[in-house]
Amino acid sequence: MENNSITRDRVVGNDRTFKEFSCQICQNLLWEPHSCSSCHRILCEKCMQKWFNNPLNRNTCPFCSKPSEYKPCAFLNQYILPYLRIRCRNENLGCKQILPYKQLEHHETADCQYLSEQCMKCNQLILRSKLVEHQQRLEQCISCPIKCTICKNSFEDIDFQAHFTECYQQKIDQLNTNIDFDRNMERHIRDNERITPNSSL
Ligand SMILES: [Zn+2]
Ligand SMILES: [Zn+2]
Ligand SMILES: [Zn+2]
Ligand SMILES: [Zn+2]
Ligand SMILES: [Zn+2]
Repeated sequence: MENNSITRDRVVGNDRTFKEFSCQICQNLLWEPHSCSSCHRILCEKCMQKWFNNPLNRNTCPFCSKPSEYKPCAFLNQYILPYLRIRCRNENLGCKQILPYKQLEHHETADCQYLSEQCMKCNQLILRSKLVEHQQRLEQCISCPIKCTICKNSFEDIDFQAHFTECYQQKIDQLNTNIDFDRNMERHIRDNERITPNSSL
């Protein structure tokens, strides 16, 4: 779903639910989640495509670095995500509806009484019926800073794309460091377990 990042404030429920089912890279709620055939870690479709479209990444997983294929994550799609409830993206325009995950896209693109489109010039969500009028009004159609979902900083429109690419790469590097750390801890714990019985003799 284009232009529809599901941020924390749109998901009904506690922080834990959101954290558990958000994409580790863009930090939005998982949309079309895909998991690695090797390590089973999960990414949203957008982040997965962004990663695999970069030839430098040579079809390896960002997390386990093994040659990998990402497949739609059937378990989440079937048993977890359908139970989440999300506020319509047009809440600021007047829509107070809260939708089950699976109905959200249809609602926002067809059923909503406040159908909106993202203005190409300023990136704001604007009522579809008011879009032309909006773009003629210079005082309304001003490019507003875009907030990076990863680092939470705001950027001017023209700087955003470059920033996001960089921020995205940093996030992956950081995740990899954490994973190395986890692996070391695991090894450490295993080694200790091995040592303990002997040393108690
Ligand atoms: Zn993502
Ligand atoms: Zn992997
Ligand atoms: Zn709506
Ligand atoms: Zn605009
Ligand atoms: Zn950022």
